[in-house]
Amino acid sequence: MRYISTNGASRPVGFGEAVMNGMPEDGGLYVPETMPALDPGTLSSLSSYDFHRLSFEVIAPFVDGEIPEAELSLMIAEAFDFALPVVPVGSGIRGLELFHGPTCAFKDFGARFMARILAHFARVSGREVTIVTATSGDTGSAVAQAFHGVAGVRVFVLYPAGRVSPVQEAQLATLGGNISSFEVDGSFDDCQRLVKASFADADIQKALALSSANSINIARLVPQAAYFADAVRQLVVSGQVSIAHEPAGGRGFAATPEIVVAVPSGNFGDLTAGLYARALGIPISRFIAATNVNDTVPRYLETGTYSPKPSVRTIANAMDVGAPSNFARILHLFGGDVGAIRSVVSGFAFTDEELRGAIAEAFRTTGYVLDPHGAAGYLALRRLGVGEKGSLGLFVETAHPAKFRETVEPIIGRAVDLPEVLKASLGLPKLSRPLANDIGAFKRVLLVK
Ligand SMILES: *Cc1c(COP(=O)(O)O)cnc(C)c1O
Repeated sequence: MRYISTNGASRPVGFGEAVMNGMPEDGGLYVPETMPALDPGTLSSLSSYDFHRLSFEVIAPFVDGEIPEAELSLMIAEAFDFALPVVPVGSGIRGLELFHGPTCAFKDFGARFMARILAHFARVSGREVTIVTATSGDTGSAVAQAFHGVAGVRVFVLYPAGRVSPVQEAQLATLGGNISSFEVDGSFDDCQRLVKASFADADIQKALALSSANSINIARLVPQAAYFADAVRQLVVSGQVSIAHEPAGGRGFAATPEIVVAVPSGNFGDLTAGLYARALGIPISRFIAATNVNDTVPRYLETGTYSPKPSVRTIANAMDVGAPSNFARILHLFGGDVGAIRSVVSGFAFTDEELRGAIAEAFRTTGYVLDPHGAAGYLALRRLGVGEKGSLGLFVETAHPAKFRETVEPIIGRAVDLPEVLKASLGLPKLSRPLANDIGAFKRVLLVK
């Protein structure tokens, strides 16, 4: 398996090099040169798998032998050591809860897997790796927690001052050791620009082996495909869905009822991973890109014109992204053809009021407490009328509602208990430092010995 750049001007590399580089030199993103396919035997016997074995089947083709199989299996089991239940949230709608990891958001999957992958390649190559990562809150927490204490890896986390929740800040700014965090005087997009500028800087490139832990790193993305596969496996095991070879003319397996997956999206890593799972053969009919008012992708799907905008603050702050970095990967996957993308992906964008309304409605009618991000996925499925149309809607619940309890509690009129893991970090002293929104300032910090 070789990885090429979406910009097409960098040399193809293997998995390890793609992970270590983070981004190709031409400023594009690494994508698989050809998409692998799951063994039909795996698809026809999904119910005989467990989460870890199925994850191995999904992930191994992307690693393509660069890590010994037994070691890769162990990494998967260690990284994914928490549950991911599919739960009913009203008729015809299911939620895939991805918030049972240490930072209570789905990014734990990618970050914990990547930490192990990077530690492996750092050890093999004998190089210390410096990770720079921009976060709107959850990436930074997941990455900081996943890499804390990992030998051979230093981490710099940049986050927008005043725009992450208190719990997120407690998780990303209190660790110390090999983790340094910086409060940037700017937006998430500014943080992301600083990260990109650091990759483009010749002095930094010369001094450090830089990598990124954003979803632009292929080692973050690939493991996320595994939970889409597992959601389908769970639906099969519980008898809610059956899968069979498509009738003549079809190319693979199809699910009955058909499965529509709504993905609350910001940088579109999660949705890209879902599309990779589908490309591998996992029978998901359609995806919905559900956003807040940062609607760059839904607008693109509607108009066919891609015009990123500066990000706007919303109550679903992990999706406050105006120029989603994984869009290039989605475009590449569909050969740049908006019609082809539309045949698989629909877009919905929601205002804060609509998201609040969805949290209230879901709580009133089902007792389920949504977080503001999952609310976008849930609401998209409601608007689509999935249950009534004979399809099964699955939304990705990307974070525990307690992470956004300042928003959620007044809506449902009830307290949301903080999970123990989050409680533990709240009392710790903040160690992050302020940073000007300026590559010169960031460079000085990075190059300090
Ligand atoms: C990061 C995040 C998202 C957006 O995920 P992308 O992969 O960037 O699209 C959605 N919800 C939560 C809670 C997140 O942390």
